[in-house]
Amino acid sequence: MFRKKGRFFAQEITLSESIVRALKCRECGQEYPIEPTHVCEFCFGPLEVVYDYEKLEGKFTRELIESRPQNMWRYKELLPIDGEPKVGANNGFTPLIRADRLAKTLGVKELYIKNDSVCYPTLSFKDRVVAVALSKAVEFGFTTVACASTGNLAGSVAANATAAGLESYVFIPEDLEQGKVLGAAVFGTNIIAIKGQYDDVNRLCSEVAGKYGWAFVNVNVRPFYAEGSKSMGYEIMEQLGWKAPKHVVVPMASGSLCTKIDKSIKEFIKLGLIEDTGTAVYGAQATGCSPISKSVKDGTDMIHPVKADTIAKSLAIGNPADGFYANRVIKESGGWCEDVTDEEIIDAMKLLAETEGIFAETAGGVTLGSAIKLLKSGKLPKDESIVLCITGNGLKTQEAVINEVAKPRVIGASLKEFDVLAEADGVKSNS
Ligand SMILES: *Cc1c(COP(=O)(O)O)cnc(C)c1O
Ligand SMILES: [Zn+2]
Repeated sequence: MFRKKGRFFAQEITLSESIVRALKCRECGQEYPIEPTHVCEFCFGPLEVVYDYEKLEGKFTRELIESRPQNMWRYKELLPIDGEPKVGANNGFTPLIRADRLAKTLGVKELYIKNDSVCYPTLSFKDRVVAVALSKAVEFGFTTVACASTGNLAGSVAANATAAGLESYVFIPEDLEQGKVLGAAVFGTNIIAIKGQYDDVNRLCSEVAGKYGWAFVNVNVRPFYAEGSKSMGYEIMEQLGWKAPKHVVVPMASGSLCTKIDKSIKEFIKLGLIEDTGTAVYGAQATGCSPISKSVKDGTDMIHPVKADTIAKSLAIGNPADGFYANRVIKESGGWCEDVTDEEIIDAMKLLAETEGIFAETAGGVTLGSAIKLLKSGKLPKDESIVLCITGNGLKTQEAVINEVAKPRVIGASLKEFDVLAEADGVKSNS
């Protein structure tokens, strides 16, 4: 950063060379060039982006990162794009809140909320993964982008694609909340509702991706898409003053975010940006769709697919693509899993709103509700730092709480009528 006439100008520095090495099979280790592909030809394992971190040694510093604009691209060297982002240049960098009022209610010493319910531009953490997926899609030369979505992804793909001049097709299960449907349709996307659950939508999209040659953000460009989630972890560490929390609670659908939060911490340690203080990663699911949580609690690494039945529709993936890896990250980090009923989800949404003034969607209720259960069982200690990842906005899942909150009391525009109301409330007036 340099100072000029009293104002700060962030100096745009791109470190000369991309450190992205290849796509690598998570099962057999086979490496592939950087292409729109996601499964290993030899063993059908999922592919992941791998980097040559040595190339950043001594160059990717806290000072460099701090000098950059406040969006997710301040960590661009660790995201799999070439040079500058083509899509979603302003996405990310959401507040990390010290949640003292909620902490007091829960009897916890040090509690933070990473608030992606206000992520730019579509109010969920999906704006991070979409920014990377669409930037990469443009680099690959695609002009139509698509996704299989539980709701938030559809809105984010539609908005970010529109803003970048890309055509989009978004596929959703037909029973989504109105706010999610509207929150995609308004951008003029092609929105297709499938009679079935997310897992049916996803299966169809795998076939469409092969046949129509589009960039499906969570199918053929999934390895790049998934890397975008790391930015949530990077921000948490920077915002904590360049350290990792002792505990982090993450909502899980496919389980990808959970694994990428863990990857982000390992990368910052490797690059010397933070010290290794041993962060435990905890997964949160809705009981009505808890294949990953169940596998951890049962002490197995087998994920048994389920049919989803929960108000947390954004997390309703019955056959989670990254379930096995999320299970492993959780166990290896010393974390645990919990899951919550619809009722517990609603209670937690209200508690978060009433203590911290944050209206999170159902997935936020899953995160906080699961954290409360983990605190009660002693799996999550009360005297160490905890970060809760809040990933989506409550205005998109109004159905969940509309009948659970007070209705406005209606009066005429008359002081007399208000006086009656105030007196009933026991409120004293000046005269
Ligand atoms: C998609 C989503 C998640 C979790 O996504 P993963 O598939 O596990 O990476 C969490 N919260 C919200 C609100 C989401 O939309
Ligand atoms: Zn393989």
